[in-house]
Amino acid sequence: MSLLAKPSMETDLEKMAKELGADLFGVADLTIAQDFVCRQGGEYLRKFSRAVSIGVRLLDAVVDELYRHEDPAVIYTYTALYDSVNSRLDHVGLLLAKRIQEKGYQVYAIPASQTVDSDKLMGVFSHKLAANLAGLGWIGKSCLLITPSYGPRVRFATILTDAPLKAGSPIDEKCNDCIECVDVCPVKAFTGVSFNPSEPREVRFNAHLCRSYRKKREEKLGEGYCGLCVYVCPHGRSNKSLP
Ligand code: SF4
Ligand code: SF4
Repeated sequence: MSLLAKPSMETDLEKMAKELGADLFGVADLTIAQDFVCRQGGEYLRKFSRAVSIGVRLLDAVVDELYRHEDPAVIYTYTALYDSVNSRLDHVGLLLAKRIQEKGYQVYAIPASQTVDSDKLMGVFSHKLAANLAGLGWIGKSCLLITPSYGPRVRFATILTDAPLKAGSPIDEKCNDCIECVDVCPVKAFTGVSFNPSEPREVRFNAHLCRSYRKKREEKLGEGYCGLCVYVCPHGRSNKSLP
């Protein structure tokens, strides 16, 4: 009989996620946020006490060009990257979900891109909430999830489960006095107010302004993505002296 301890389910899942191309992995305890989760996505989500959060980083050289976001070539390249990162996340999410299900637990995989309320730019479940509770980053003044290593240059997907996985803990916000995302936004969609879980997102972000701007860009350029708030954040910015 082997004396080596069997790896925990979290260790096994993290190894698998990273081998499949994920850059970040964490587990969130959802029990403290279940009312919020059910208000956003529905009562059927209450049975999931854990969220596995996986992140795949974007390519720096592509994000670094977003200051030229009026150039269709720049925005098409960014859109293609965004889509391929989302596909990879969905693929990794599916395989992790199947692995957890094989162990006898319930799973519900939330795809990387899942806007179900286009007015509020919201999905069934907030990937940022899972990543934040898992300790992968903090929610910045841009309402994006800011990771210590890659800033907001990461996309996320989530697997909800009732498996009793060991969860991480949230980390402190490190925006401090920075307001670069507030200043760069062409429609001033951010108020500059720091994240507070007890306040609605509207206190910090006017989703309508962002959505209208993106719609106009879509009519003009064929693609609506803007991405200036991702580009400008000093956290994870490889080239600190960008224009
Ligand atoms: S994507 Fe562009 S318009 Fe929307 S909030 Fe970010 S900077 Fe503003
Ligand atoms: S640009 Fe500055 S204020 Fe905005 S999210 Fe990044 S660190 Fe926070």
